Amino acid sequence: MSDSHEFKVGQFGKIGEHMVGFELSKRGWIIFYPPYDERTDIVAIKFCCKKCTAPWHNEHKISCMNPKCKEFEKSIKSINSKKSFKNKKCSKCGLIEKRTDKNAQQSACKKCGGKLEEIALCPKCSEKIKIFEKNCSNPDCDSTEYELLFRSIQVKSSHLVEGNKIGFNFKYQDLVKDPRHFLIVYNRRIVNHLEKHFYWILSVADFLKIKKTDTVSFKIYQNDRGHYSQEQLEPYLFKEEEFYTLEEKKYKLLKENKRKEVRTVAREQFNKDAFRKLDMV
Ligand SMILES: [Zn+2]
Ligand SMILES: [Zn+2]
Ligand SMILES: [Zn+2]
Repeated sequence: MSDSHEFKVGQFGKIGEHMVGFELSKRGWIIFYPPYDERTDIVAIKFCCKKCTAPWHNEHKISCMNPKCKEFEKSIKSINSKKSFKNKKCSKCGLIEKRTDKNAQQSACKKCGGKLEEIALCPKCSEKIKIFEKNCSNPDCDSTEYELLFRSIQVKSSHLVEGNKIGFNFKYQDLVKDPRHFLIVYNRRIVNHLEKHFYWILSVADFLKIKKTDTVSFKIYQNDRGHYSQEQLEPYLFKEEEFYTLEEKKYKLLKENKRKEVRTVAREQFNKDAFRKLDMV
């Protein structure tokens, strides 16, 4: 059933872009919509672990880094309101004193007159508090290095056309020859009285498998409208039901604190999620 009559021309296209943007946001992408139509509908960036490619928590975390201390690698929250961490150290004689209301403004060492510097120390072991740089979301990974991924995405919003096919125009200049570019097809329809959203995620290489580009209508006339059967697009479909079944399973295990099983299900979910194709370039 087509429901195109509900939307004005152009409106549905924008809705598709926002729906895709929402799905990408759920997976840790930071998304941008270019203000002008430059063949790219969404630009997405993501912080990723350089070692294992898992999402990177771009956070400022601090902790005691002394492996012998009980507080080792434990994240310290709101240190500013915790006086026990705050100290002053003389840059000349090395004398350390607790920072108090009295000496907070003092800049010279009472022993040698040297310059006092602010220093944060662990109240348990007196080691320096450092920046905790292992920010990988994968608990098994100890990487301290991340990288920024970049993707450009073109969204094709399509109503079902004759024969339940998905139809959209694709121009020569849409064929961006870069592995970081993706094509996402969006369709919305009512199934069993419920609104459903469908997404097909294709890399440029995927698209070239279903699209004939060696034709005059594509290369020269630029009036090529493609119709794709749902069977043809099936390998690229985001299988929402499978995805959320695993999501529910994952949260149930998480509540039961079954960490190993959580990881197994998370991996299974990752491998089933068509949107994850964007992570693996
Ligand atoms: Zn990692
Ligand atoms: Zn001193
Ligand atoms: Zn410590």
